[in-house]
Amino acid sequence: MSGNVGPGVGLGVRTQRWAGWLALLIAGMASGSALAANCPGHPDALGTSRTLVVDAKAHPLIGTMQYRETLPLEDGEVVLTFDDGPLPKYSNQILEILAAQCVKATFFLVGQQARANPEGVRKVRDAGHTVATHTQNHPSGMHKLPLERATKDIEDGIASVKAALGDGGAALSPFFRIPGLARNDGIEEFTRAQGLQIWSADFPADDWRPVSSRRVHDLAMQRLKGKGKGILLLHDIQPRTVAALPGILRDLKAGGYRIVHVVPATADLPATPTEPIQWLLNPPSEHVPVARWPRIPNFVFAETRSLPVPQLTDTWWNDGAVLDHPKRAQRGVPLPREAPWPRLVQVASAGATLPVPAAGVFEVEEGLRVAMRGVASSARRAEPTRAAQAEPKRPARLAHIAARHGKRIAGASAIHGKPAVSGKPAHHARAAGPAGRKASKRAIPDKKNAKGNGRNREARA
Ligand SMILES: [Zn+2]
Repeated sequence: MSGNVGPGVGLGVRTQRWAGWLALLIAGMASGSALAANCPGHPDALGTSRTLVVDAKAHPLIGTMQYRETLPLEDGEVVLTFDDGPLPKYSNQILEILAAQCVKATFFLVGQQARANPEGVRKVRDAGHTVATHTQNHPSGMHKLPLERATKDIEDGIASVKAALGDGGAALSPFFRIPGLARNDGIEEFTRAQGLQIWSADFPADDWRPVSSRRVHDLAMQRLKGKGKGILLLHDIQPRTVAALPGILRDLKAGGYRIVHVVPATADLPATPTEPIQWLLNPPSEHVPVARWPRIPNFVFAETRSLPVPQLTDTWWNDGAVLDHPKRAQRGVPLPREAPWPRLVQVASAGATLPVPAAGVFEVEEGLRVAMRGVASSARRAEPTRAAQAEPKRPARLAHIAARHGKRIAGASAIHGKPAVSGKPAHHARAAGPAGRKASKRAIPDKKNAKGNGRNREARA
């Protein structure tokens, strides 16, 4: 795999892009040499820059796709995770690709897969990767299962992987990922009590979707660039992941990213010392008054079917009187004077709350207020006839249409007091009355605007 990228390819561009990491790279050169030495036969390997030892119980929920905390990574550090294996056809290729780059990852294995292919579980362990679990049966909609079934699936998955390891499961980590990331409170309480650490992720690459391997590569790199670091979620049972992985590793190295291998703390292996703030992807600065804001709730994006179905009774248009209007009109029954909206509607169930609107919602923009005053004063000056009240908008509307077309239209000539073209609707003729003359004074600026708009339209075209 080494040498598949020319030493200078893309380096100039990337040096600019990642200039901020230069100091880190220089600092890491010594360890980089060590990495190459530790990857025999692959001097240009990406390598694994460090091993992070974590105390699972101290941080039971990680991964910013769902949780507040994530692994305490430095900028540019990446943790690779692979779900749903082992499946020999593809998992073995993933292991080979990782081995060629001396990259260590975490594998969330499915119990059924482990039973079908116990040798595959041992291969993951023997290659030095972290072995973790992902339930026995990989149920879909895990959050909707009865809690007893969900917890049994978790326990069975652990038992199957332990059985496959064959040594009492000494190498099995307490790391666990929920299928589909379909969390609920009960599952999280259970795993916490069991000393398990739930791994969500910081970004996926959508490799379980029917997309190209190129797309998987691009999503992985784009999302990593967006976050700067984090846990990448991949699947070692997907051919597109096998195809995408070499390019991802190549570009990680070219981009100056560093791979971190995560292992659990044990009696003999103390956790890497960290500060609480390091477990936040974007630590708050002293300029952000975080304590004054409500905490953002955890959302699960992977499963949207649990959203409440809107009730027909929640909609104002379901009001019987409104629906009855057409029938009444057909029968010649006059419509009620009362406007059909707004109506008070019984929304949602008892106990539901709505946020208090911010004061700014009720503010009227300065320009709008001026315009409204203008309308009100001209209405006061206008003669109190029915026509005066009904027609003021029309010349402005015509001017607006003229503006849209960038030219004068026949009806717009009425704005200047000329009679409307014959055959035009009668209301244009009425506009030539007192109200029409009043409107014509207002419409002149509109015509100027119309010309200006016309130029702008041409300029944009
Ligand atoms: Zn899965």
